[in-house]
Amino acid sequence: MATGFVCGTRRRPKCVQCGGRADLECDWKVPGRKRGTCDAPICSRCTTSPAPEKDLCPDHAAAWQRWKEARSA
Ligand SMILES: [Zn+2]
Ligand SMILES: [Zn+2]
Repeated sequence: MATGFVCGTRRRPKCVQCGGRADLECDWKVPGRKRGTCDAPICSRCTTSPAPEKDLCPDHAAAWQRWKEARSA
């Protein structure tokens, strides 16, 4: 049972970066999460796309950048 749920109002995800309407979700893999991904809401303007159909929140965009650099080093 959800408490504080307003009937008829659908949860509108807000972009973690700009607070605007989020159309996308972070696809970064997070072990231990139910869905296995970060799922942070992100809008199409703030996303970082490492691959087609993949999106990253700002935190994980930075993590991805570090991962790439570590890999090429
Ligand atoms: Zn945004
Ligand atoms: Zn993320």
